[in-house]
Amino acid sequence: MRTPNRFTGANAKSEAANSAIQLLTYATKHYKPNRGAVTRDTPAVYSENGVDWKHVEAFEYDAAEPRMRLILEAKGKPLWIAHTPPYMDRNLAALEKWAKTKPGFRVETIGRTVDGRPLRLWTIGDGPRVAWLMFRQHSWETGSSWVAEGLVKELLANLPKQLTVKMFPLCDPDGVERGGVRFNKFGYDLNRNWDVNGVEKMPEITAQLAAIKRWLDSGKKIDLFYSLHNTETSEYLEGPPGGAYKELAERFFHLLESGTSFAPTRKLFFSETKVDPGRMVVIQGLYRDFQLPGFLMEQRISRHPKYGRLPLVEDRLRFGRELAVTIAKLLTP
Ligand SMILES: [Zn+2]
Repeated sequence: MRTPNRFTGANAKSEAANSAIQLLTYATKHYKPNRGAVTRDTPAVYSENGVDWKHVEAFEYDAAEPRMRLILEAKGKPLWIAHTPPYMDRNLAALEKWAKTKPGFRVETIGRTVDGRPLRLWTIGDGPRVAWLMFRQHSWETGSSWVAEGLVKELLANLPKQLTVKMFPLCDPDGVERGGVRFNKFGYDLNRNWDVNGVEKMPEITAQLAAIKRWLDSGKKIDLFYSLHNTETSEYLEGPPGGAYKELAERFFHLLESGTSFAPTRKLFFSETKVDPGRMVVIQGLYRDFQLPGFLMEQRISRHPKYGRLPLVEDRLRFGRELAVTIAKLLTP
């Protein structure tokens, strides 16, 4: 599978704080075409009904091209093949429809994508302690959406009174619709460019940043910010820039490691404080602008040591429930 990893966004029209030339320099440096997201460690999934997904039983992998030849027996038509089990807007719409029937769930549209799709902000609960969560900044990382679904179901069943959870459940609906990888329609990585924030080219970042700013300007606080991602083979928690909120970070890391399936491939570490123009991730941007305690977590899609297998949808849903419990423990001890 070839990854359409392209960059077309940095041009002179962007409202970049940094000059277009500087951005183009960094674009050339960072946005190299990907040789392929599929690796020997991350076999494809397939489905015969579009709902139940499993990994291919056998495959041949040629790292030189790279190319994966799937060996499976299809019992009928149709047959779907994907990198990871898809989570589409219709999955999100179904979850939202269900959640709306529960007390304590609210939904707002905070803006529109480049293609005009609504950007949602969900709020659960009304307590004084506030967690703000973020999912699918990168459209290929479907695992994080299944986690979000498990988390929402747990919160709506067992939300502590002291807690409010706000979340951007799906940050790049255009990318999800077109089968994108990391970039919005204009080629901007929605988990970089938090220092650039152009209304015209990055309406997604602009809307998310504005929603957070409105909340803080109204006198409310955010006790924890968390953005979840997927990688091929690594799993980790990255804390606020420069070691800020160290005690909270250590407690969060410990609770994740002991109370969930989080199986880190590296120790807790903290974001860099210095960032190349056009490379600032959300937790760095929110720390710079509002000193928020932001965390970025990656979950692997390769074989998982705590599951003893390649992660399935049910594992993501379960981690979502565990994450909800962990956040409640962390913020409402
Ligand atoms: Zn990501």
